[in-house]
Amino acid sequence: MLGLMQSQQLLISTLIDFAERHHGEGEVVSRRVEGDIHRTTYKDIAVRARKVANALDQMDLAFSDRVATLAWNGYRHLELYFGVSGSGRVLHTLNPRLHPDQIAWIANHAEDQVLCFDMSFLPIIQAVHSRCTTVKHWIALCDADKLPADTGIPGLQSYEAWMGKQPEQYTWPEFDENSASSMCYTSGTTGNPKAALYSHRSTILHAFSGALPDALNMSARDAVLPVVPMFHVNAWGLPYSAAMTGAKLVFPGPAMDGKSIFELIESEKVSFAAGVPTVWQMMLAHMQSANLKFSTLKRTVIGGSACPPAMITAFNDVYGVEVLHAWGMTEMSPLGTVCTLKNKHLSMDSADKMNVRLKQGRGIYGVDMKIVDEMGKELPWDGKAYGDLLVKGPWIISEYFKGEGGSPLVDGWFPTGDVATIDPDGYMQITDRSKDVIKSGGEWISSIDVENIAMAHPAVAMAACIGMKHPKWDERPIIAVVKKPGSEVTRDELLAFYEGKTAKWQVPDDVVFVDTIPLGGTGKMQKSKLREMLKDYRLPML
Ligand code: AMP
Repeated sequence: MLGLMQSQQLLISTLIDFAERHHGEGEVVSRRVEGDIHRTTYKDIAVRARKVANALDQMDLAFSDRVATLAWNGYRHLELYFGVSGSGRVLHTLNPRLHPDQIAWIANHAEDQVLCFDMSFLPIIQAVHSRCTTVKHWIALCDADKLPADTGIPGLQSYEAWMGKQPEQYTWPEFDENSASSMCYTSGTTGNPKAALYSHRSTILHAFSGALPDALNMSARDAVLPVVPMFHVNAWGLPYSAAMTGAKLVFPGPAMDGKSIFELIESEKVSFAAGVPTVWQMMLAHMQSANLKFSTLKRTVIGGSACPPAMITAFNDVYGVEVLHAWGMTEMSPLGTVCTLKNKHLSMDSADKMNVRLKQGRGIYGVDMKIVDEMGKELPWDGKAYGDLLVKGPWIISEYFKGEGGSPLVDGWFPTGDVATIDPDGYMQITDRSKDVIKSGGEWISSIDVENIAMAHPAVAMAACIGMKHPKWDERPIIAVVKKPGSEVTRDELLAFYEGKTAKWQVPDDVVFVDTIPLGGTGKMQKSKLREMLKDYRLPML
């Protein structure tokens, strides 16, 4: 017997329809590439998303054709999120931090038909446009009068001229909710990048679950600042969850420095912000040096890389902001776990609470997890056993676009490439990427643990722990450190700082001071590059 409920496809267009009808006055504020602050509403975003859909129809694009963006977080990007996917095309968010050769390769692989870009990326487009063989239409995200006369890009139009003249009415098409809605290429640390292809259904379910109180806890009373880029896994789904809840959206545009982010948080009364640890590090440094405090920020979700304990303490204890440590990946839309406390934790003292908060958190509804040993045997959730982390759920990849790399699943589970423990309460803690794990004398050393201790030292801006070959112990950890400007610490002082904080054999053998640690396009430390940088390095006493 079937249920007798209405059958309605879960489509992204319903999100913007809802936001327009129920939160039409809800604000969307953007710092633009032009430098000014732009203010609009969900009502206006909805109207302009429909204009985008009409403009795309005029281009004779087929269902599922790819429309690419190369853009910062801003209102025009948001209009494309809804206009492109809502009209049945696939939004392909390109990452401008990649090398132009990689951008051209990805655009060709995705077979992008249209490419919309912020004017700050004009030089990239000028460098790659002749190599993007499938792109038929180039759109600059600017006013008509801001388009330079001679860009060398054939048929280039301004966004405002392109969509501005279109009718405000548009009937969103109805189609199978499993249709592709957007795509994002993985960081591609090895080999060519591969694309995760999200569906309308997966996106809506992810937005639902992501907005829940024990996940990101989003509501119409929030002002949300996604510092995480809209070109990286759909800004963790925040644009969709915001439309679903009517939360105010605040977009930082290209200004990601600590001062600009802090000012935006204050001026727009932001209650909730999301970003990777490197962004928050810049902001905390700015606040510290200028002796500033937040007046409205209540919580911040930090993920993408392990959040150092020192950062959680600074947010919690100094600024009164709750940190939600979260974990996920491109292949997971991205949310997998969020660290929120259970009732039983509330009465704990702050040190014990901190031990919970440090973990990457509990699986949110929809994400199932397990850890397995080398033989694939499931390991207990005892907080001690660590193994390869596998996940499954309705917003987790089943295969990559065009079947690249073959089937990624093992018995229906997606291997994340992370190594983790899970405790009896279901809190998962990442110890490493499997390829970064350090094996010393038959025991594993968590590079994240070693880094977290160094990061707690006041003179350390960034720290990366890697394993070095050792004739006796197989591998020994060393720590590469970038010092904070104007701060000093010696090798011996830093090694002494480890005393009492970890087992002796887990203390790194050496400290190497470096000017920078290589970061990838999504702000993650690229340890393969660091290893290359230090290829002539030898452990002391060898
Ligand atoms: P990406 O697909 O580029 O978002 O990268 C996903 C990977 O980032 C994960 O598989 C983890 O290795 C890492 N990652 C994401 N969030 C965290 C976190 N909170 N702590 C540690 N590693 C993380």
